[in-house]
Amino acid sequence: MEEKLPIIEVTGDNLAQVWPSLSKALRDATFVAMDCELSGLGNRSKIKSFELDVRYQNMAEVARNYAIVALGISCFSCNSVSSIDMQDEKGEEQIRSHDYMVQTFNVLTMCTDPFTVECDSLKFLHNHGFDFNKLYAKGILYYKGCDRKNDKSLSVRNLFTKLLEYRKPLIVHNGLIDLIFLYQSFYCDLPKKNDTFAADLDDLFPSGIYDTKYLAEFHQAVPATYLEYLFKKMQLKNISRQRNGQWHVRLRFPPYPRQTPNIDWYSYLQIFSYRVEEDTDKRDLCQNYAFHGFCNDVKCSLSHNINRVVKVLQMQGAKKHGDSKYSSFKGGSLVHVIEKFTKTREEGKPQKRKSSSENVPSAKKCHLSSKETNEPEDITKNSNGVVPEQVQPQNLRRSANGHRAGYDAFMTGYIFASIVSDKGVWTSKDNPFTPENIGLADQVNKVYLGGKNFPFLIRTGAYASKSSKHCSKIEKVRSSESTLRNV
Ligand SMILES: [Zn+2]
Repeated sequence: MEEKLPIIEVTGDNLAQVWPSLSKALRDATFVAMDCELSGLGNRSKIKSFELDVRYQNMAEVARNYAIVALGISCFSCNSVSSIDMQDEKGEEQIRSHDYMVQTFNVLTMCTDPFTVECDSLKFLHNHGFDFNKLYAKGILYYKGCDRKNDKSLSVRNLFTKLLEYRKPLIVHNGLIDLIFLYQSFYCDLPKKNDTFAADLDDLFPSGIYDTKYLAEFHQAVPATYLEYLFKKMQLKNISRQRNGQWHVRLRFPPYPRQTPNIDWYSYLQIFSYRVEEDTDKRDLCQNYAFHGFCNDVKCSLSHNINRVVKVLQMQGAKKHGDSKYSSFKGGSLVHVIEKFTKTREEGKPQKRKSSSENVPSAKKCHLSSKETNEPEDITKNSNGVVPEQVQPQNLRRSANGHRAGYDAFMTGYIFASIVSDKGVWTSKDNPFTPENIGLADQVNKVYLGGKNFPFLIRTGAYASKSSKHCSKIEKVRSSESTLRNV
């Protein structure tokens, strides 16, 4: 593992310069992880509607009214699947590894159509280092909805087209809202019905969409499923598999010169150096924080250290091995565990890392431009005691330079790579990276739905058909594959 993770910032200023490497990274990727930073989410109760079709329609409305302010893209290209048995004087050693070259981009995107912003979120972002001046001055301009002209210019819309063209598996974390935003922002107008949307996605991403929150919630024995917890947990599991000669992930990054402009370097291996016993902070862990990734108590005096959370839960799980509350849940029973450990109501479950004022019914709004955020302390302002869901701990950590979308996309991709290794089914690079070959045939095309014990299914149902707007656009996309391929 390399020590620092490079994230390339992509703006209007350097898009032309970065485009060839971005395009190549997408083309060479085994899979692509994405994450969107949004200008807000509107009324939280609406996007958590009980009825799925109503929920979809409300989310579509949000995607029409709000905007993507940053897009994270992390391209994982597997360049080696090694299965080696070695024998030396020390004995036998097995190496079973999936080696990936990873390139991560944080694309600043500035919507030219009027859009809504949640002021509280915006203030929060600002307070935590998001550079709005840079967004306004250098964000890559885009418009929403259907194509307005048939241009081949360098744009985020055409970047998204490339992703479709290359037909890569797409990885998201709790990604229904991301998929809806990506579609409306960079593809075309959303269809009216969720079944039609599902059929369109099925056609758009023939190699499948995987949602790491769904995978973790329903198929992994873990006590929490918010992004940063999973990321660190998977890092620990991965190293343990490596030591045991089992299938594991190894990452490499391109050897960018350290002084390259527009590249920031992130420490991402802290979990390996953190020791609970050496921590001078002896406070107990905040349970809300530990299980949800946020805490709604402004005056909370308990520990919110994510490394501590991961290690302590690990130890607790180990102690209870055999009878562990963490060791046996599959199929959604995790929800009950979480409920047991927190007073937070179902609506308060961390849904994602979107803006912070989500559940505040009277969230102030201003029309004009940009961004949002979220985070523990901020969330607490709910007068009704409901914890807004999207707050995630990583926001705190990385807010210093505001590259959360890129970092979140990277964490999402890593979690997925780690799950694939854990399955231990993909044993040769000669086998194409299909759901069957990686052992996830029953887990592909299922997207996490907050508050439900079933996922959103990406499929073309017997009674659903694709939207006409999608059909006419995808035809153009795929017919232009050859012309765009070499740009
Ligand atoms: Zn707390």
